Amino acid sequence: MSQTKPRSPSTPHRQSQGGKDFRKRVQRSKEQGEAPVKQTASKPRAGNPAAKPCIILKAGREKSLLRRHPWIFSGAVECIDGAPASGDTVPVRDSAGNFLAWAAYNPDSQITARVWSWNEKDVIDKAFFRQRISDALAARRTLGLERDSSGMRIVHGESDGLPGLIVDKYDDVLVMQLGSAGPERWRETIADILQELCTPACIYERSDSDGRELEGLPKRCAIVRGTLPEMVEVIENGFRFAVDVAEGQKTGYYLDQRDNRALTGTLATGRDVLNCFCYTGGFSLYALRGGAKSVLSIDSSQEALELAQRNVELNGLDASRAEWQCADVFEALRKLRDQNRKFDLIVLDPPKFAPTAAFAEKASRAYKDINLLGFKLLRPGGLLFTYSCSGGISDDLFQKIIAGAALDAGVDVQIVKKLHAAADHPVLLSFPEGAYLKGLVLRVAG
Ligand code: SAH
Repeated sequence: MSQTKPRSPSTPHRQSQGGKDFRKRVQRSKEQGEAPVKQTASKPRAGNPAAKPCIILKAGREKSLLRRHPWIFSGAVECIDGAPASGDTVPVRDSAGNFLAWAAYNPDSQITARVWSWNEKDVIDKAFFRQRISDALAARRTLGLERDSSGMRIVHGESDGLPGLIVDKYDDVLVMQLGSAGPERWRETIADILQELCTPACIYERSDSDGRELEGLPKRCAIVRGTLPEMVEVIENGFRFAVDVAEGQKTGYYLDQRDNRALTGTLATGRDVLNCFCYTGGFSLYALRGGAKSVLSIDSSQEALELAQRNVELNGLDASRAEWQCADVFEALRKLRDQNRKFDLIVLDPPKFAPTAAFAEKASRAYKDINLLGFKLLRPGGLLFTYSCSGGISDDLFQKIIAGAALDAGVDVQIVKKLHAAADHPVLLSFPEGAYLKGLVLRVAG
């Protein structure tokens, strides 16, 4: 086994805007649909400048569109007719001139266009966006998601037919994140529609994901409508969570782990729990309420840990069973191993180590490292909840990495359950990239 200590890859702390250290240090964008790492890909060739704007694909490169994958990569484009501007809606045609889709053009991205609609008769206007957003809201109502939580992802980008648009609802505050040129162009329209349909007290824009840089868009965080309360609170399965929408990570909270947190809570009874990368204490609170004997939570962000402790208080939970550590998990796990500490349930929910496949190798080493240490810290019969939110790591690869870690740790391990993001993060079948979050519940042989 290699003795070289893998460092956490440099990608997790990816926020670069804003004075506060918090965002810089802790940002993890678990989002789907981010553009790949910028390469020196050649820009599509200009076609007939006098013609109406249109994207014409190379012969044979229409296949993924015919399978309804919504991204058009620059390499598939033969030429661009006319002179469309970034964010403009343009028709996409195959090499024979057949209509394929309406898409939002972005000359500055490797993803030259993202599809709004496959129907030539559609007009991409306010009514179109109102329909798509209404559909997304209706889908969530059908699933009965409001019953137990006042926090919910109401628009999940490509998977809701709105590439690049994320909208999270935290009680009566909406946070929108515009990740590409299309939604950027329709920013005001989208805000108007959200205001009309949801009547929130505030719409806050958190357009500061790294993906925007790759799209050639500046970062922007600001109130778009209404007034932002000093602290937003969300109810989740009976818990109260304070959410910092302006300074917290992503849009402020990790809604995608809601169901997985609940599962952890049900299995925590009587156990010594270790929650790594705890952020504002999600898994820790569920474990405490679930009757864990003790919960040690580790994160490198002091601000996140402060909010986590506030969340314990908000919920009247027994703080004496909770221990908090501000540390690098890679180092903390080694210390715990050296101290011979043992746990019955461990959660590993690290930031996105591999935003794209280009980072997969380095990320694999990091995943293997923390999981190997996790296995070593578990008592026989213990449970490991391990996650990857990396778009660049497939389900298969993740499982293989974990299998390698178990082998090196010398433990026999069963998969008890496979986990994904919650139902308000649907995955369009034609857009498998939407399934960015994968988790395994593992049981070490007793
Ligand atoms: N499980 C959380 C979400 C985790 S987000 C929830 O349910 O809400 C990932 C967290 O990892 C962030 O809080 C970030 O601050 C933290 N982090 C990133 N790199 C880290 C490192 N090397 N050591 C410790 N924490 C780290």
